This record gives sequence, C-alpha cells and structure tokens, in this order.
Amino acid sequence: MTEQQSQKTERIFRGVQVSPGIARGVVHICGSQEEPVERRQLRPEDVPAETGRFEQALIKTRQQLTEIPTHLGKELGGGDVSIFDAHLLVLDDPMLAEQVLKRLKEEQINVEYILHEVTEQYAQALSKVEDSYLRERVGDVRDVTRRIMRNLQGEHREDLQHLPGPRIVVAHDLSPSDTALMDRAKVLGFATDVGSRTSHTAIIARSQGVPAVVALHDITRQVTTGDDALVDGFSGLLIINPSQTTLYEYGEIEIRHHTLEERLTILRDKPAETRDGCRIELAANIEFPDEAVSARDHGAEGIGLYRTEFLFLNRRDLPGEDEQLAAYRHVAKVMAPHPVIIRTIDLGGDKLFPPDHGQPERNPFLGWRGTRFSLDRPDIFKTQLRAALRASAEGSVKLLYPMISCTSELTRTAALLNECKEELRREGKPFNEQMEVGAMIEVPSAALMAHQLAKHVNFFSIGTNDLIQYTLAVDRVNERVAHLYAPTFPAVLRLIKLVVDAARAHHIWVSVCGEMAGEPLLTPLLVGLGVEKLSMSAVSLPLVKFVVRAMNRSDALTFAERSLQSESPTEVQGWLEDYVRSIAPDVVEMVKPPQTPPR
Ligand code: PEP
Ligand code: MG
Repeated sequence: MTEQQSQKTERIFRGVQVSPGIARGVVHICGSQEEPVERRQLRPEDVPAETGRFEQALIKTRQQLTEIPTHLGKELGGGDVSIFDAHLLVLDDPMLAEQVLKRLKEEQINVEYILHEVTEQYAQALSKVEDSYLRERVGDVRDVTRRIMRNLQGEHREDLQHLPGPRIVVAHDLSPSDTALMDRAKVLGFATDVGSRTSHTAIIARSQGVPAVVALHDITRQVTTGDDALVDGFSGLLIINPSQTTLYEYGEIEIRHHTLEERLTILRDKPAETRDGCRIELAANIEFPDEAVSARDHGAEGIGLYRTEFLFLNRRDLPGEDEQLAAYRHVAKVMAPHPVIIRTIDLGGDKLFPPDHGQPERNPFLGWRGTRFSLDRPDIFKTQLRAALRASAEGSVKLLYPMISCTSELTRTAALLNECKEELRREGKPFNEQMEVGAMIEVPSAALMAHQLAKHVNFFSIGTNDLIQYTLAVDRVNERVAHLYAPTFPAVLRLIKLVVDAARAHHIWVSVCGEMAGEPLLTPLLVGLGVEKLSMSAVSLPLVKFVVRAMNRSDALTFAERSLQSESPTEVQGWLEDYVRSIAPDVVEMVKPPQTPPR
C-alpha cells in the first residue's frame, strides 16, 4: 500500500462518549502530550544556526504573547488578560536567554535540551522559595517554556482560541480552563487521549453542544493535523478518513436524530409529568452566563446549578462584586420568573485558580476545595455572597454551598452570610431577606448526616458526580478507573434515598444536579427514589422530559425498591435499559448507555 493510500484508509478509534452529536471536519492537534526532550550533541559549526533558531523562537513567542491579549480582550469584552503579562515578564528575564546561550556555546548541545534544563532548574528553585508570589510564577515559567519549545520545534499547535478555522480539536487532555477558553465558533468537536464523563471538561462540552469523545489513549500520536475526521459523540468513536459507506451511514443516523429532535421540540412547553400524574421539575446547569438563553430555549424551569467558579478561571485577578452581580443579574433576568441557584465557588479539584494554587496538591479532590476554600478565604467568599444577595433583590435567586461535609461548615457560612446582610442593610442596598440557601450533598458524610444538615438549610442538591467518586473511591477524572465509576451502584442509590427521605422528613426540597440527572436511562431510577427535581445540561433536557412523560411513577417505585436491594450496578443498569426500551425505544437508540462496570 502506498503512503497516500494508507493515509486514506478509514481508521476507527473507540473511546468514551461524553457529549452527544456528530461532527465532521479537519483535525487540529492542540498541545499533544509532552515528549521527553531529546539530547543531541552538535558539531561546533552548527552552533550559530542553533543560536539563531533560539532567537527566532524567542521573537515569535514575544509576538504571540503580545497578540493574544488583544484577541482575548475583544473576546472577553475587556476581560482580564494579565496572565500574558506575567508570561512576558518571564520571557524578558535576561537570566533565561543568557544562560541558555552561554550553555549552548560551552556545551554545544541542542537548544531544546538546554532550554528544558535551564527552565526546570529555574522552576525548581522558585517552587522552594518562601514568598508565595514567587512560587506562583512556576506555572508561568513552565507555560512560557512550552510555548518557546513549540516555536522551536516549528509545530503548528495554535492555541485553542486561535484555531485557523472550524476544526475537530484533538488533544492529550483539556483542562476545564482550556475548554472554557476555546473559540466556540470554531470547535466542531473534540477528542482526547484521556478524560472521563464527569470531568468538568466533558460537562462543558455537553453544555456547549460540542460532540466529544475522550479516553482515546494515544490518539494524539495516531492522527495528524489536517486529517479528515468524524467525531461520533453518541457511540464514543473517532473515525479518521471516514469512507463513503461510513459517511452514508452517519447521514442516516443524523436524519433519525433530527426526526427525534423535532419530536422533542414539540414537548418544549409541555410539562414533565409521568403518565400517572407525577410532576417532575426540570432545570438546567450552566457554567457561563450566556448559557442561560440556551437553558430557557430548551424549556428549563430554572437554573438548578450555576457553577460560578468559571468566572474565576483563566485570570489572575478576582471578579469583583459588581462584575459578579452583573453576571448573576443577567442569568436571573433571562430565566425570570424561574429560579436561579447560584452555587458559590467550587474551586479546587480539577478547577484550579492560579493565585491560590501555586503548590499542587497531592489529592486535589480531597483537598482545598469548594466551601473549605471559601471559608478559608472570607475576602473572596463574602464578595460573592454580597453579589448573590444583591442579585436576589431583582430575581428569584437562591444560594447553594458546594462540598459540604459537616454541619459546622453550614453554621460558618450562615454567619458570613449574616455579616453580608448586615453590611448591605447598613449600605442601604436591597436584597431578598428570605433568600433560600441550600447544601450540596456530594460527600458521603453529608449524605449520612442529612437529617442534621437539613435543619440548617432550605434545600438539598445532590451532586452525584462527586458523591459517586467519594462513595466508590473512584477518581471521576481518571480514565483508568472509569469502568468502576458506576452511578447505578446500590451503595450510591442508598445514599440518595437516605437524603431524599431526610429532606422529606424535615420539609425541605431536594434536587439532583449531578450528571446522573441528565442521563435519560437513569430518570426512572431517580424518580423511583423520590426525586422530583432534576437539573442537567440544557441539551439533555428534552430527552429526559421525553422519558418522564413516557414512564409511570408506580413502575419507577417498584423498580427503585428492587435496585436498592440489588448487589450489582450492572444488573440495575440492565433493568433500566429494558424498562426505557419498553417505553421509549428511540431514546435507547439515541443515547448509548453509560459505561457499565465489570462487577
Ligand atoms: C456534582 O458533584 O455532582 C456536581 C454537580 O458538582 P460538580 O460536577 O461541579 O463537581
Ligand atoms: Mg461536585
């Protein structure tokens, strides 16, 4: 086979589907996994050329670092771009270039190797200093090195916000911050080496309606920029050089999906009510204020979870009270008269906030995260509480605290909230005195203490993404253990039931806002466990409503009872598929069941 022929051969890679839909286009590899830096001895006569190569790379890097902020400034409407100023400072540090050039002359080794050594020594030394400001520069040093390295190697890995046109993005991994920065108009779909269904990257892809497949192992080494590709976000496939037959089949699949979507659109203004009359409230989760419009257009009866930490990512300064107020007001206005649940910042885990995370944590999901972080930083927290309170004067706004693990956290948040109310009263700034507050139940200790926690809040919101990872000790973003991440595991179901029963006993309401809420195959299970409010990515809403309207609550109750007694998540999963297939066969065809664990 000639090289040309082999390039055209169809190749199918199987990963994990994280965002439904089909996208076809040209591949663009972004920031592939870092290769070990090769060491090469140079001939003395090659040193001047190597020096020139380094100087050119520095010039190019400087040019990029001055151009990106202009682009970003436009995109973000004057948003913060100071991270690039910090990068320029590193680049302009005379020590860096001088040392590299000196060693290049003395040792006559390829410049990539020297640059790597010099910057690593620099970063190591910085990470040990007392001064936290200097320690935080370690990330900048590594980012700048990466950029110089890319320019040295002559690769065309444009940053995600600088794609040359509409593209299928292929990357080793995308952090939630990377995903948040993506030029949404140009990303047709994405595929990554690593990743999982409940990572925040996957969640954003779903919210944005970008088809995505993750956990494709070494896909960045298997494909090249310019390849023709098809992302099948329904079945978790990346198809390179799709054949005519494949394209025809996908054309058929798309027609079927469109037909079903049209049927679903008709349901938009119909209530989510089971055949036997149980009304389920369906709300949407958002990460960015501009997603509120899509939530409303998909028929959401409110925002059940607004992940406000995304306001804090990709910047080095903090969003002030007025900036936050503007964002919260906007969402409340778009959603009026429906409620908006503002979750206070859940930084930490896979959502890192550069100024406070200079030192990486060993177990970030068990570390300085969510309300723990907020309580340690009352300056940041109170700014947010004040903004949310002020937004409550104009819209139906509620507050939700993430990662609650004990009652004392709730008493401490309540004290800070009262301080903010007092301040606002003194300043004559209006707010809703009765604004409801809730606790996320996503740590097993909180689920087990639900009766006690219920006395401190107006509602619970069950965050199954974390509840599952902490109950089963399965890292939600680690693809190696993704097969063990089982929403239908009876231990998880028992905790959900416990929380629902506690809420009922204390006359507070309860909702589920983890990704389980948006899996149509799991809808009968949650309804059977007594959940009557679900909040999910807007795109999942029509399908879930379809299932709600096709099912009977009485079936769900029986079914949930059996599931609670089951020993196996696979068994529960099988029952669910059979049940949903019997009431809504098109749905089962459209959403491939979430991964089932081999237990
Ligand atoms: C959850 O844990 O289920 C949740 C909704 O919060 P997040 O996914 O943002 O951690
Ligand atoms: Mg969570």
